Amino acid sequence: MQIDRPVTISSQMVDALCAIVGREGVIYGEEELLVYECDAYTIEKQLPNVVVLPRTTEEVAAVVKLCAEHQLPIIPRGAGTSLSGTVLAVTGGVMIALTRMNRILEIDYRNRRALVEAGCVNAWVTNAVKSRGLLFAPDPSSQGACTIGGNVATNSGGPHTLKYGVTTNHVLGFEMVLPDGEIIWLGTRPDGGEEVDGYDLRGAVIGSEGMFGVVTRVLVRLIRAPQMYKTLLGVFESVDDASCTVSDIIAAGMVPGAMEMMDQLITQAIEAAYHFGFPLDAGAVLIVELDGLAAGLERQAERVIEICKQNRAREVRVAKTEQERMDLWKCRKRAFGAIGRLSPNFLTQDGVVPRSKLPEMMRFIRACSERHGLRIPNVFHAGDGNIHPLVLYDERDPDQVRRALAAGHDILSKCVELGGSVTGEHGIGVEKIDFMEKQFSKDDLDAMRTLRRIFDPENRCNPHKMFPGSKRCADFAPRKQIAA
Ligand SMILES: Cc1cc2nc3c(=O)[nH]c(=O)nc-3n(C[C@H](O)[C@H](O)[C@H](O)COP(=O)(O)OP(=O)(O)OC[C@H]3O[C@@H](n4cnc5c(N)ncnc54)[C@H](O)[C@@H]3O)c2cc1C
Repeated sequence: MQIDRPVTISSQMVDALCAIVGREGVIYGEEELLVYECDAYTIEKQLPNVVVLPRTTEEVAAVVKLCAEHQLPIIPRGAGTSLSGTVLAVTGGVMIALTRMNRILEIDYRNRRALVEAGCVNAWVTNAVKSRGLLFAPDPSSQGACTIGGNVATNSGGPHTLKYGVTTNHVLGFEMVLPDGEIIWLGTRPDGGEEVDGYDLRGAVIGSEGMFGVVTRVLVRLIRAPQMYKTLLGVFESVDDASCTVSDIIAAGMVPGAMEMMDQLITQAIEAAYHFGFPLDAGAVLIVELDGLAAGLERQAERVIEICKQNRAREVRVAKTEQERMDLWKCRKRAFGAIGRLSPNFLTQDGVVPRSKLPEMMRFIRACSERHGLRIPNVFHAGDGNIHPLVLYDERDPDQVRRALAAGHDILSKCVELGGSVTGEHGIGVEKIDFMEKQFSKDDLDAMRTLRRIFDPENRCNPHKMFPGSKRCADFAPRKQIAA
């Protein structure tokens, strides 16, 4: 079954939802629903019929059961920071927002793990344990807003993915409400139960973009914070030189905690917004963060400086204090926020290329920007070859929207051509559905559909994402939200 018509919801259904989560936990007025019409991929928009804000797993399960009885789509949602339309209510439906389930329930320092509710904001976990020298490693740039449930559903990475891996490497297990309302636990249990034997269904759900169920509680791994950081800022005349530096550092046998690149346009916007002291005329700047045991870190930093200089770095600055290091990261992590100075709208692309192909990819993006007549600044996780070109456009001009989509399409096609992938961390959502057949064979896609049906036989959980043949928002005429 595939829901392929606009959903209507009766006022009795709204009353039934209110009976479960309380009237203050149900949003159905058209104006209030506007907040939920899209995520950070703003090109496509569609209102859910109703948003519910449960406070407990039992409330989530009761809402999901009710929706199953009425054959309604459910759309799990965290903070709505997804950049590929993964949280769009394509046909309408009942959006289940986890933002009131945001507590850290338990911190087990002895075993270095924490049990959190799915709506807990990513950065809150590290903030809660840093005084004890621990941290939660996945650090998406959106970590001040995005939720652990959203991280699980998109298998989020971040600047420090290069060394520490992505969400799946730091989630031990979680509780999930299946689309029929059953509550299950996958992976390691919080009561200290051993790793379960058999298939790694925990791993299968991580990255499934909210299509397998609603995650409600997550057991995360905490790691020891590095003894020392050495954070360097290389200033380069060109993106090519900075890109070659990235490859050379890895080729020299070092794995920095992070290597992040920003080109001239984004560096200028960041400087105007946050006043760090970035040079405005540099072609690119590269942040290299080395971390680990203090012994040996100085030597590694010297080697990185050498490699930067070999690649014609104009200067290499070393953060002298922890405050300076934090300020530098603040600028990097708030880079997207600075784009408002350049353009009313932007389309964030998320592709991957082999690291050695970064110079070629960056040249292609420059040519693409000229061909489509749109500016495309770049800020990205260079160490992973995970690019984030930001295509600037004005949504009030339909031709610019068309050109932005065309530029995004060209960039992702080039990633595939260079042996990379159309997503490093933001997922497929609605944005990249058309690329699935380019990256995967029919058999691959059938296997993915089969796996999905095991969890969600009726295709009601976050429908019309990821798979070719899915409907788009444009396929549905405007509809009345709540039937009388
Ligand atoms: C400025 C900015 C910077 C970003 N930087 C990064 C980055 O460095 N790395 C990175 O990986 N991403 C990044 N992102 C993308 C985004 O923040 C991540 O994908 C994040 O994990 C989404 O979390 P969220 O809580 O906002 O989820 P949402 O956007 O609400 O949802 C995302 C997906 O998760 C599903 N979902 C949410 N909660 C649940 C749940 N409890 N159970 C089941 N499914 C659920 C939704 O259905 C949807 O499919 C960035 C976004 C922005 C706006």
